[in-house]
Amino acid sequence: MNAEIISVGTELLLGDIVNTNAQYLSKELASLGINVYRQTVVGDNEERILESFERAFENSDIIVTTGGLGPTPDDLTKEVAAKYFKQELVLHEESYKKLESYFKNNGRGVTESNKKQAYFPKEAIILENNHGTAPGAILESENGKKIIILPGPPKEMKPMFDERVVPYLKKLTDNVLVSKTLRLFGIGESHMAEEIKDIIDTQTNPTIAPYAKDVDVTLRITAKGKNEEEARKLIIPMEKKVREKLGEFIYGEGETTLEEVVAKMLVDKKITISTAESCTGGMIASKLINYGGISECFLEGAVTYSNDAKANRLGVKKETLDKYGAVSEETAKEMAEGIAKTSGTDVGVSTTGIAGPTGGTKEKPVGLVYVGISYKGNTIVKRFEFQGDRNKVRIRTTMNALNIIRKTISEE
Ligand code: ATP
Repeated sequence: MNAEIISVGTELLLGDIVNTNAQYLSKELASLGINVYRQTVVGDNEERILESFERAFENSDIIVTTGGLGPTPDDLTKEVAAKYFKQELVLHEESYKKLESYFKNNGRGVTESNKKQAYFPKEAIILENNHGTAPGAILESENGKKIIILPGPPKEMKPMFDERVVPYLKKLTDNVLVSKTLRLFGIGESHMAEEIKDIIDTQTNPTIAPYAKDVDVTLRITAKGKNEEEARKLIIPMEKKVREKLGEFIYGEGETTLEEVVAKMLVDKKITISTAESCTGGMIASKLINYGGISECFLEGAVTYSNDAKANRLGVKKETLDKYGAVSEETAKEMAEGIAKTSGTDVGVSTTGIAGPTGGTKEKPVGLVYVGISYKGNTIVKRFEFQGDRNKVRIRTTMNALNIIRKTISEE
């Protein structure tokens, strides 16, 4: 089934606002298995809105509009849609009463122009607006075409779409869609796509879609079935294939985060941890502490920024600092061991690096970072060379440190 999104508003054409509605609706329609054939933006102009409806219905059965539902004469969407389907507008009593009480609560009466917002074709399905004054509507033509009319403000449009339109569309599509999201760390989007190229190239049902955001990469598997159980069953073999290729990078499923997975693992396994951070300045500690219930496991976080702090608080040897420098594998090792020993924890984590923008040399460039982890008498140190500004280097260090903790304690 094809759909076209028509965003109405001269403001959009002038570039005064960004068309976030179309982005939201495209994603949501796709996840319902509805193919978005085209997105159109049209000004507040009757003739051009009519023309856009005509053009859209050449390829689509459904039009979703946003905007142009307000009280002023240039808010035209509903009027044009009714005209297009040759349906007459009549006062919808219930919507009018809601408008009256809305304005009464605000100490005003309904003006004639506001009254316009309560007029709909008799046959229309009214979508009440719990976040504003303009209700939306679904207009259906005799030959099965549909125009779904939604308000412009995203905070009104989104709940109306989620609560009223999604159930309506689900009935139309006669299919149930079930999605499963896998979360990955340590692999880029393009590398991931390459690894599973054969799966992507041959996908039909389920489909798989990679997404990348900052340091996080996700893979969404979506299956279509006659019912939920059938769709879920289809996901299982696809997930197995994906895990065979990418298992080492997958840290979780659904709405979880890397920090949550790591913190939960520590709590579940009753493993205690302490951190000695230099370039990350407490970010790892802060991420772990985001997780409620970590107090049993997270015992201490030290920000040991100077050489003196590294020596005095953690016991890093003066010779190590002199010989190898603060940003070195040897220092990272002694930092991790020092914090684990002095805090009395199972795990000690350390970071030391050059976050920039200054301080880099040819041998030790900006972005060079060492992450150490000491666990049950074993210490490993990983070396990274990150790209990006100071903040990116620090975030990447933090996320990689969390991933190293995850891998170390899950290997038990
Ligand atoms: P109202 O009843 O508030 O007048 P409306 O349904 O008539 O709403 P418009 O007047 O077209 O909608 O737009 C109102 C506001 O909604 C815009 O100023 C803008 O902030 C937001 N908006 C409209 N269309 C979009 C869009 N496509 N994407 C994001 N925001 C939008």
